[in-house]
Amino acid sequence: MKPVKKSKIVSQILELELTKKQTQAIEDRLSQMPETCRKTYQKAMTGKARTAGVKAFCRECVGWKRIDVKKCTDLGCPLYFYRPDQHMKEKELPQDPQ
Ligand code: SF4
Repeated sequence: MKPVKKSKIVSQILELELTKKQTQAIEDRLSQMPETCRKTYQKAMTGKARTAGVKAFCRECVGWKRIDVKKCTDLGCPLYFYRPDQHMKEKELPQDPQ
């Protein structure tokens, strides 16, 4: 995986005065996800973007495949009706990296 770039969003996260342990947990998480999912995750971790939080959580839940979030079958999940891309047609979804 490519290294995590410092961005405006990362700066916002750093402004949260996180503990060393929290910062390390975020960095570890970022390094384990595809580059295309990092921006949404970073936005969620500013603590100011709930929609991004749901999006990041759902993507992580299904292994970062947007099509699998759309196809989610866990009707009992509290995020089911909030999951991203559920109303998009499959062909409209951007291709996930292989
Ligand atoms: S709605 Fe589906 S994809 Fe999203 S967190 Fe729940 S089980 Fe996972």
